[in-house]
Amino acid sequence: MTSKNIKAPYECMELKEYKLSDFVPEFSEFRQSDDLSRFGCENIENNLIRLEKRGKIHFENRIGICPSCKSHHTVKNGTYERKLIFLRIGEQICTIQKYKCKKCGKVFYSDLSSLVYSNSNITLPVINCIENLYQIYGAGLHKIRFDLKQQHNIEISHQSIENILLKSKYEFNYENRTYSGYYLFDSLWVKIKGKWNYLLALFDVKLNTLVSVKLVESEDSKTIYQFLHESLRNQEKISIGTDLKHEYREAIDKLKVKQHFCKFHVKQNINKRFRDYFDKNQLEKEEFNELIDLKRHIFKILDAKNLNDAKNLRNLLLDKKYSKNNFTIKIVDKFIIPYFQKLTTHLENTNIPSTNNKIENIFQKIFPKHIKRTMKIEQGLLRRFMLKLNHWNIKNKKEKNHTSF
Ligand SMILES: [Zn+2]
Repeated sequence: MTSKNIKAPYECMELKEYKLSDFVPEFSEFRQSDDLSRFGCENIENNLIRLEKRGKIHFENRIGICPSCKSHHTVKNGTYERKLIFLRIGEQICTIQKYKCKKCGKVFYSDLSSLVYSNSNITLPVINCIENLYQIYGAGLHKIRFDLKQQHNIEISHQSIENILLKSKYEFNYENRTYSGYYLFDSLWVKIKGKWNYLLALFDVKLNTLVSVKLVESEDSKTIYQFLHESLRNQEKISIGTDLKHEYREAIDKLKVKQHFCKFHVKQNINKRFRDYFDKNQLEKEEFNELIDLKRHIFKILDAKNLNDAKNLRNLLLDKKYSKNNFTIKIVDKFIIPYFQKLTTHLENTNIPSTNNKIENIFQKIFPKHIKRTMKIEQGLLRRFMLKLNHWNIKNKKEKNHTSF
């Protein structure tokens, strides 16, 4: 029999205070809650025990239960070695207890399912750590890799980290809660395998939280309607803010909910139409001034402090003397007048925001442009986005709770 030196079990952990149990086999049952939390293993099953045997980490079940016949009449039957990657101590060769069922004769291994996926050697706490680094710091793969090496003595490839993020089990948490009735809706264009897709998002203005998110292939009004209809089933529906896309308008009208156009988008749109018209037409100074005056009047309506002012300004616009042509008719008679209500809902009800800034800020924060361009895989895209949204939602709720005290 060869004699082996019994090494200190955690050579790489300088801060650890050694206990007698770390050196004596069978003494160091992995039970104390501080031990569990040190390795991020709080969720490990009670029946899974971690021991130190000759400097090696050993896993066995408190009670070996036969997976075939569920019998508890089992005996230990040798061990096998398995490489596992842990928080703080990195890669370790572990021994895993094997058992034999006395009833049916089957040989089986200790159940490690609460610690590691069967097809992986990266333990679940490490996977959680990677997901958190990604969510909380928005850390890229290189940063995550660096951090794992620095903090946990873990060396795993970029590809493994990427795979973990892509396979992340996280689903957007559609809490069963009551929403306020005041929403913003927007979509984000993302290119997946060379094809444009749309990430639809609905946001609750009063609760400051995302209601739902969905990746779809088309932005037609039927798809939008389905998304809104499903997201707001059995919820209060008072108003939804959007930009000017007619698909959104058709969907929200069908939903029979008040729609308000984002003031920022409206102004941007009107500015662009005037600019294009000036660019394409050689105007007499008189006509040019008249149009500038018309634009100012329209902006006054949009910026009105209350609904009465807005209505008076609209009536003045109807009486206003300006040359009617295709351009002015399109703006005044086909947009400002018929959609007056959608342009001024925020004046009727102070719960309704005048712009869609809030939801656009979330998109910008979570999904900067450079990330959008590099997204290739549908599942990965959604997983990553959900991870970040999840963090945004948690952080936001915390901040909100904090300020309410
Ligand atoms: Zn059995």
